[in-house]
Amino acid sequence: MNIQNFINGNFHNPVQDNWIDNYCPANGEIYGQIPNSSKDDVENAYLAAKSAFPSWSQTTLDERSRILIKISELLETNLQRFAEAESKDNGKPISLAKSVDIPRAANNFRFFGNAITQFASESHESVGQDAVNYTLRQPLGVVGCISPWNLPLYLFTWKIAPALAAGNCVVAKPSEVTPMTAYLLGEICNEAGLPKGVLNIVHGLGTSTGQAIIEHPDIKAISFTGGTATGAHIAKVAAPMFKKLSLELGGKNPNIIFSDCDYEVMLETTVRSSFANQGQICLCGSRIFVEQSIYDKFKADFVNKIKDLKVGHPSESSTNIGALVSKPHLEKVMDYINIAKKENGKILCGGNKVTIEGFENGYYLEPTVIEVPNDECRVNQEEIFGPVVTIMPFNREDEVLQMANKVKYGLSATLWTNDLKRTMRMSNQLQAGIVWVNTWMMRDLRTPFGGIKASGVGREGGFEALRFFTEAKNVCIKY
Ligand code: NAD
Repeated sequence: MNIQNFINGNFHNPVQDNWIDNYCPANGEIYGQIPNSSKDDVENAYLAAKSAFPSWSQTTLDERSRILIKISELLETNLQRFAEAESKDNGKPISLAKSVDIPRAANNFRFFGNAITQFASESHESVGQDAVNYTLRQPLGVVGCISPWNLPLYLFTWKIAPALAAGNCVVAKPSEVTPMTAYLLGEICNEAGLPKGVLNIVHGLGTSTGQAIIEHPDIKAISFTGGTATGAHIAKVAAPMFKKLSLELGGKNPNIIFSDCDYEVMLETTVRSSFANQGQICLCGSRIFVEQSIYDKFKADFVNKIKDLKVGHPSESSTNIGALVSKPHLEKVMDYINIAKKENGKILCGGNKVTIEGFENGYYLEPTVIEVPNDECRVNQEEIFGPVVTIMPFNREDEVLQMANKVKYGLSATLWTNDLKRTMRMSNQLQAGIVWVNTWMMRDLRTPFGGIKASGVGREGGFEALRFFTEAKNVCIKY
C-alpha cells in the first residue's frame, strides 16, 4: 500500500516522484512505499498552512475544541483499524497498540481539546504606578512537528494536538520507519471537519524532508522527539534562525530498587518497565540497580519472569514481545549484546535472535538481561533502546545515587522504596525530568514531561505545551 502526503486537505504524490520502501518488521517484507518528500513538498505544505493560519488562529476556542474532540472520537471509532496498522508498521504487539498507542493518541486530542478551553493568560496590576499589564498568548504561525518510530501515532499527536489547540497551523513529519498511522490520520482530520491546510503531513527521510522543515525560514518552531544526535543537529540548524525549540531526546533511565519496597508490585512493574514495546520506550528503566540484600532473590525471580515472556508475531494476542522496528535497529541492539560480552557482562537470559515459523525474516530478539561488572561499561552508559536491561547490586543510597546520575542523559528515573525521607531526598537529587516512585509510566497529561542534560530541552504536556506553542506578548496600559 502506497502512502501519500496530506497537504491542504488532499492526498498528493511527492513532487519529485521519489519513494522509499516501507518494511513490515514482523516478516521483513516490503509492503508499500512512502514519499521521500523534497523541499518542494515541504514548501507546498508550508504555503497551505500559511494560508489556513489567519482563519484558524481566529477560530473560537469552543470550535477548535469541538474539532479536536471529534478527531479523538473518530480515532476511538477506528481503534481496530489504527491498532492493526500501527502493529504492522512498527512490529509492536497488537494488544499494546490497541490498549496503549491508539487510545493515548485519541486522548491527546481530547486532552488538548479540553485544555485550550481552560488556558488563561496572566495579568499584573502595577500597584502605585496606575498601570495594568495583561499578557496575550498568541499562536506562533506555522510550526513543525517531527516524531520518532517507537510510539508512532502517540508521539505524533502529542505534538500536533497542542499546536493546533493553541491556534497554530502545522507541517508535521512522522518517522519514515513508521508512517502508516500518520497517513491514516489525514482522513480522520477531514472527516472531523478540520479546515484544509491547518494540518499538513509530509513523509520522508530525516535528511531530506526533516531537514527541509527545520531549515525553512518561516516555520517558527520545531517540536522534535527523537535521538540526541538528531536533536543536537536540529538545534544547530534552527537556533541561528531563532526558532522556538522543544527537544525530547534519548534516555538511559535508572530503576533503583531498595529492599523495603513492595516486592511483588516492583517485580511485575519492572518486567514492564524493562521490556514493554520491546524496550523501545524512551522511559524504559534500562539500568536496574538492586540493593545487595535482595539482589540474589531479585535476580532469580526477574530472570524467571522474563523467561515466561512470549516473543511472537505481533498480531497474536498471546505475544508479549513483538518484532523490533527495523533490521538496522536489530543489528544495533545485537552489537550492544556483543559489546557487553566483551566488557565481561554476564548474559543472564536472552541475547539471541528468535526465529518464528513462517516469519523467518522478522526482526525478533529475546528479552535480554545482562549482569554488568560496573556502572561505567558501555551498555550501562549508552542508549540501546531495545529489549536489553542491565542489572547490578548496590550497598548504599549515596553510592546508587552517584551511579544513577553518572550518565549523560537525564530523562526519567524510577525509585522503589517505602521510606518517605529517602524518597524525598533522592527525588530531589536524581538528575531527571521525571521521577516515578513505586510505579512506572503512570501519566497525568497535565504534568510537565521532558528531560535534562542530553535528554533534551523544554517540557511538553498540559499548559507547558500550550505555552510553548504560543508567544507571550505583554501589554502595559497606564490609566
Ligand atoms: P531519530 O532522531 O533518528 O529520528 C526522529 C525523527 O527525526 C524522525 O522523524 C527522523 O526522520 C527525523 N530526522 C532525522 N534526521 C533529521 C534531520 N536532519 N532534520 C530533521 N529531522 C530529522 O530517532 P528515532 O530513531 O526515530 O527514535 C529513537 C530515539 O527517540 C531514541 O533515542 C529515543 O530515546 C528517542 N525518544 C525520545 C522520547 C522522549 O520523549 N524524550 C520519546 C520517544 C523516543
